[in-house]
Parts: sequence; C-alpha cells; structure tokens
Amino acid sequence: MDSLLVINFQKCSIHDGPGIRSTIFFKGCPLDCVWCHNPESKKFTKEVLYNQERCSACGTCAKICPSNAISNQLYRVSLDRDICTTCGSCLDYCVNNAREIVGEEYSIKQLVREIEKDIMFYEESGGGVTLSGGEVMCQDIECISKLSRVCKDRGIHIAVDTCGYAKFDNYERILEFVDLFLYDIKLIDEEKHIEFTGKSNKLILENLKKLSEKGANINIRIPLIEGVNVDEENIEVKKIIEFIKPLNIKKVNLLPYHSIGKHKYEKLDEVYHAEDFETPDTSKLEEIRDIFERNNFSTKIGG
Ligand code: SF4
Ligand code: SF4
Repeated sequence: MDSLLVINFQKCSIHDGPGIRSTIFFKGCPLDCVWCHNPESKKFTKEVLYNQERCSACGTCAKICPSNAISNQLYRVSLDRDICTTCGSCLDYCVNNAREIVGEEYSIKQLVREIEKDIMFYEESGGGVTLSGGEVMCQDIECISKLSRVCKDRGIHIAVDTCGYAKFDNYERILEFVDLFLYDIKLIDEEKHIEFTGKSNKLILENLKKLSEKGANINIRIPLIEGVNVDEENIEVKKIIEFIKPLNIKKVNLLPYHSIGKHKYEKLDEVYHAEDFETPDTSKLEEIRDIFERNNFSTKIGG
C-alpha cells in the first residue's frame, strides 16, 4: 500500500512550526482525549458526518443506502455506523448536503505534488511541511518514511506533530529526515492521564527521553485546561517542568483549551464530555508562562 488517509491538507498554516507551512492531518489516533477538538481524527477509518440542522428528514438516503445502514426517524435519520461501508452514495443523493465523508486516501505522489505547490512560500518564510493528525506516528510508517525522505531530498523543512504514543522504532525510522518534533505533553500524573486520554503516559514520556537523547530538535506543546492540568498551585505544570528540564528542550508552546470542535461530536453521533472544562484566564496563562520562562524555556502562549 502506498497511500495514507488524510482528514485535511491545510495550506498556508502559521501555527504548526516556523514560517508558512502545509500541514497534513492524518486520520487515526491511539489516544482518546476527552477535550479533543478534532474527534473526526480519532478513528483510523473513513467516517460519515451528519449535519442534522441541514437535514429535512426526507428519507432519500435511507432508500438508496445499499447497506440499509440508515433508518428514518422523526425529524432526523439515524445511521448504523457498524454496517455503513462509507460508500458515499447517500452524499450524492442528499440535496441538502447534510452528509459528508471525512478521510481521503492520498498516494505519496499526490501528497508530494500538493506540498511542492507551495515551495516558494516555504523558502521565503523559512517554513515547510508539518505532518500532524490524528497521530502521524501511528500511520503506515513505511509511507511516512517515504514521504519524509522525498521532502528532505527536496530541501523542505519537516516538522512532526506527535502525541508520543507510538513504537519508538517508528520515530527512529524518520529521525534523520525530521527537522523539528512538536511533542505534546498533557499530564505527568499517570492515573489522570489514563482518566483523560484513555492511555498511560509511560510510553509517551519514555519516547520523549529517547528522542532527546538522540539529539532531536523538540518543542513541547501543552494544552492548558482548567479541571485537567491547571489548578491553583500549578501542580501539573511544575511536574512537567521537572520532567523536561534535564532534557534537550528549549521551547514550549502553551495551548489554551477551547471548545470549538464541540459541534463535530454531534455530527459523529457522539457525546462531548468536556462541558465542564474551562479555558484558563489570561492572568493564569501569563502566570504559567512566567514559571516556564523562569526555568529557562522560551515560552509562547499559542501555537
Ligand atoms: S437525504 Fe439528506 S436531507 Fe434527506 S434524510 Fe438523508 S440526510 Fe436528511
Ligand atoms: S456511506 Fe454508503 S453505506 Fe454509509 S450510510 Fe451512506 S449510502 Fe449507506
């Protein structure tokens, strides 16, 4: 197989590494963060999104679905996602555009062609390409490695945005091509990490140490969420600093929580469980930034 499942190919991005970048969001992530603002990136397969506000409940899609995955209900239709094959027929017949499919196969050639279109912007701005997700390190690593090699051969700067939850072998496969890792740390407390992401953070922290030992260029990214890792005494913030201080890390990005992806959960027939979380206020964000700066990290609020 020589293709990768992509959610979005974002051009002219300025938040995912230096300069102007093309950011490729791959589909599928091993973590299940409660606050995730891209829930459509979690599954490793294509999915149908359903926008009930647009749907007139005409029932056409239920009639044409070859898998009988759709059933008519009052004011809406419901989809049995276990039997939907994501064939796309219901999209073609919906006059209200109430459905869309998320996830598109791109060959390495197609990705390179798209990346190369903006090479002038990368050169002018010191930008490049960012491989993101979902989780890029849990995609077909053969393909990711090929893509990275081709970009490297063309002199394009490569950043990898990762949650850290992947076999270290995968990181080793691409290490020589990657100019920058944007590495997420959410929590040091393992129990809390399991509670809020569904997985232990052991592998994530081990991988970070190993990458640092190998001399990789790493920026740490920390989502800041009241109710998860932000509190009065900055307990988790201090633990993160203690962990990263001995490592080869100079820069930190603090990413305040937002709930703009909330509406996507409805489109996937899922429930948003982060209602009680809050964005830290400006003074709290500045307080946390100061703590990092006092510990000699160049720290920015935002991507
Ligand atoms: S065809 Fe479109 S508008 Fe009609 S029921 Fe299906 S999703 Fe709704
Ligand atoms: S994508 Fe295909 S299988 Fe899935 S609901 Fe639509 S028509 Fe049915």
